[in-house]
Amino acid sequence: MPGPLKTEAVVLRSMRYGEADRILHLYTPRHGRLGAIAKGVRRSRSRFGARLEPFFRIRAVLHDGRGDLLTVTSVDTIATNGALREQAATLDAAARACDAVGRLFETTEAHPEVFTLLANELALLNADALHARPANGLAFRMKLLLAAGIVPHLAACAACGDSEHLRGFSAAAGGVVCNSCEAAAFPLDEESYQFLVGVLGRPLADPPDASDRALRQAERAIAETAEHHAHVRLRPLLRAA
Ligand SMILES: [Zn+2]
Repeated sequence: MPGPLKTEAVVLRSMRYGEADRILHLYTPRHGRLGAIAKGVRRSRSRFGARLEPFFRIRAVLHDGRGDLLTVTSVDTIATNGALREQAATLDAAARACDAVGRLFETTEAHPEVFTLLANELALLNADALHARPANGLAFRMKLLLAAGIVPHLAACAACGDSEHLRGFSAAAGGVVCNSCEAAAFPLDEESYQFLVGVLGRPLADPPDASDRALRQAERAIAETAEHHAHVRLRPLLRAA
């Protein structure tokens, strides 16, 4: 790209490199996911080393460097999201959110809505640990699938178009399926179905209530959709619980 790039970004990952450098994965509104190197930032006198931790929302100036990595030349902090690091649940949820964005949106294609969604998710996790619940994590992922253009078809059977007896979910078919089309599907309870529909229609901060069983089915639907349509394996949210 010509000239320096001034952009907002969320730090997805920050890895030590060599003696004093860091390699960063940044998610930006207009340039998608970018790789960058910040030189000398692990020296104690570095001007911006402490601003390049994961989950920081920053304003950065990036220059063309060698190869694929841009070079970070200045950084201002917009939000540190420091409070979310104080609890394991919010830290873990933030790591999974950044990981899902990095996997589903790994190119420099512009998805400003994904940037906003991620920035909102981190701000919610920073504000209140309630937002680290699995229902919230699944709501975030459904909205990511929507932004990626692979949200499952929920209004009618994805195979035959029937609007009744929607009892299964098939990632291969592209969404919910009716009981005559459910050969390759897994069973989807009414409650799980309502959850998937509900999270798309509601704010990120306010997903519908659902039982553990429904959340597990919803997670399976989301995971299989990401795997089938984006060839991305998302880290499990509920499997270990
Ligand atoms: Zn059908």
